[in-house]
Amino acid sequence: MKPYDYVLVGSGLYSAVFAYLAKQKGKKCLVIEKRNHTGGNVYCENIEGIHVHKYGAHIFHTSNKKVWEFVNSLAEFNRYTNSPVANYKGEMYNMPFNMNTFSKMWGVCTPAQARAKIEEQRSSVTGEPKNLEEQAISLVGRDIYQKLIKGYTEKQWGRDCKDLPAFIIKRLPVRYTYDNNYFNDLYQGIPIGGYNVIIDKLLEGCDVETGVDYLENKDHYDSLGEKIVYTGPIDVYYNYRFGKLEYRSLRFETELLDQENYQGVAVVNYTDRETPYTRIIEHKHFEFGVQPKTVITREYPETWSQGMEPYYPVNDEKNQELYQRYAALAEKEAGVIFGGRLGEYKYYDMDKVIESAMKKAEEELV
Ligand code: FAD
Ligand code: UDP
Repeated sequence: MKPYDYVLVGSGLYSAVFAYLAKQKGKKCLVIEKRNHTGGNVYCENIEGIHVHKYGAHIFHTSNKKVWEFVNSLAEFNRYTNSPVANYKGEMYNMPFNMNTFSKMWGVCTPAQARAKIEEQRSSVTGEPKNLEEQAISLVGRDIYQKLIKGYTEKQWGRDCKDLPAFIIKRLPVRYTYDNNYFNDLYQGIPIGGYNVIIDKLLEGCDVETGVDYLENKDHYDSLGEKIVYTGPIDVYYNYRFGKLEYRSLRFETELLDQENYQGVAVVNYTDRETPYTRIIEHKHFEFGVQPKTVITREYPETWSQGMEPYYPVNDEKNQELYQRYAALAEKEAGVIFGGRLGEYKYYDMDKVIESAMKKAEEELV
């Protein structure tokens, strides 16, 4: 008999949810994390009473009632609705693309006037849009493409909009109503007290070791658990046997400012090509903070190389094929469950990662 039923590698949402459900079934769990704190990318650092989203802005949104009820059983959520503003060379536009954006761009007042303007500007695109540029122009016209999409997207992805797939831009709502809500989901908010409240509740009753890398002491940790739940990068688990999967990385530059309110909203996108960062986050506005100081973070896109934080999987064909080869190995692994953003190499939002961990726990913990 080994001392633990499960050894969970990584302490992000996937591991934490799985461990919580395993504990409810009387299982013993050990969670190991190579960072010096738990929570993975949803971790918040408390600076001057402000919950700073250390690994990028995290807004919880979902249409899945079961997931919403689950997270609400762990923390109370506030009424935050994401409504970023785009700054193009000092001109401010509401996001996502809606009547407020159209009105500011063209002085139009009604949906019919906005449609007519877009219709006129999209006439250059005929047939099915072949790339992101064509898709964007066909959705919102050339002016919005030039001012609010082209620069931001090329900074974000490090590639010309003509060389990017059309689907990336389809994630954003286009609305002919005066509605600045960035998401279409039924439920949205930020946990009061920050995401650590949720992670701490989920991990209650587990043994947790931080600052340790599973792969550096694999035999030891394998000997402690009947089964492993691995949420690190799948290619690293297999020591890059078939080659490296690619990621998009980010660099965050955080500053504490001796002023109460820097930009008046949580997220401002800088959509021109020249400003080197894509956005500035002012963390206190996620929780309607009234502290005398404020903390802001500039977000710079970076090309990923080994040793950097792998933030976003690059879900293009080449990487997807490579992932499938690793996934085939993983499937044969009877004692290991691969899960989460890095373990499944999937662009998961938080609600989707919770859903995935719940589903796996249901199958596993009969
Ligand atoms: P992670 O949180 O990455 O956890 C994996 C953990 O495993 C890490 O802590 C890592 O250190 C650890 N680990 C890896 N290898 C080892 C090892 N060998 N030994 C020990 N530990 C190891 N989702 C939303 O719903 N809304 C948002 O607004 C949103 N914004 C985002 C912004 C950014 C910049 C990013 C990157 C993501 C965003 N997400 C958002 C997605 C969200 O962060 C993820 O869905 C979620 O955090 C994934 O959880 P996870 O457990 O799969 O992975
Ligand atoms: N986007 C844009 N301008 C903006 C915000 C987003 O052109 O002000 C585009 C950009 O291509 C981005 C995509 O819309 O990659 C999806 O945006 P989202 O905020 O969902 O994702 P992220 O920026 O985190 O990739």
